[in-house]
Amino acid sequence: MKYGKTYSDIARFKKSFISDNKKLVEENNRISDIYRKQPHREECKVCSSGNYSSGEYFCLNKIKYYVCPDCGHINGEFLETEDFTNSVYVDGDFGNFYKEDQVELYKERMHAIYTPKAKFMTSTLENICGEDWRGFAYLDVGAGSGYYVAALLELGLEARGIEISPQQVSFGNAMHKKLLSTAGGGKCFCLGEDEVVARIRKAKEAVISFFGVWEHVINLHVILDAINENDNVRYVFFSVPVFCFSIFLAAVNEDVFCRSLGGSHTHIFTEKSLKYIYDKYKWEIVDQWNFGADIPDLYRILKVKLEQQNNNFLSRIIDEKIFPLIDKMQLCIDEAGMCSEVHVIIKKLNK
Ligand SMILES: [Zn+2]
Repeated sequence: MKYGKTYSDIARFKKSFISDNKKLVEENNRISDIYRKQPHREECKVCSSGNYSSGEYFCLNKIKYYVCPDCGHINGEFLETEDFTNSVYVDGDFGNFYKEDQVELYKERMHAIYTPKAKFMTSTLENICGEDWRGFAYLDVGAGSGYYVAALLELGLEARGIEISPQQVSFGNAMHKKLLSTAGGGKCFCLGEDEVVARIRKAKEAVISFFGVWEHVINLHVILDAINENDNVRYVFFSVPVFCFSIFLAAVNEDVFCRSLGGSHTHIFTEKSLKYIYDKYKWEIVDQWNFGADIPDLYRILKVKLEQQNNNFLSRIIDEKIFPLIDKMQLCIDEAGMCSEVHVIIKKLNK
């Protein structure tokens, strides 16, 4: 079990959360409006219980989130239909990304965010699992712009990524070529949504990763079943958002962008619902890394509101006095398991 990660390394990539707050809140509200028009959810996303809404709940942005009495998963009251996901995932404008300076930025982002994940994974495989990780092949599902794949390639590993956005794939592959001189092109491949499950089912890779993916897929069960049915896949490395301190901040600050729940995140994992998944599929946790962005969220909320008030003195002092405390404060939350996301490596046990 590992806790905490230095925030100052990645703070520069998160600055837009403050400057773009208004835009981000408007976009989240646009998605929430669509979500509220969907039919009611009939069963729990994780355990399929029809009872999921019979227990306790809380409200966020006029949406009820029920705690499933059977598995502890927290489900939004409406269903993510295909129409919903189609209207949510409008591709971003990647047209402007082909600039020389983007290569440096790509590399910095990869080294700050993705290389630490890759090193956590290889060290776990070596020290806890006793595996020769250099001999494994790796598949990253929902690879986005291929940052994690790039981090693995840089370590000399055999890695591929699959992603449904063609723009992200072509951007990621262009970066791979410039940075890593990968023979024959980049290592990301564009697949249709309906092809992803088939690719997982026939994967030859021993390790599959999913970062920030499971909370977005409609067919979570089908994906988990596909992983379980394929004996080539021995380890799964994933990150998901979990019920956390940031939810409380979001509940009382609806005018500040919330990353954890709301918008395209219509349900959220808990320690209990993850355990339900491990038990159901006979998965064993081999290692977990807890680091969240709850205190950065608190800092961001304070910054946004002080700037809205033109409260320049407090806004400046917060950078001097509070920003340097972020790691220490966040570590308390990470250790208590109340952090905004978890990174987990599981091993599939023999059936
Ligand atoms: Zn449930």
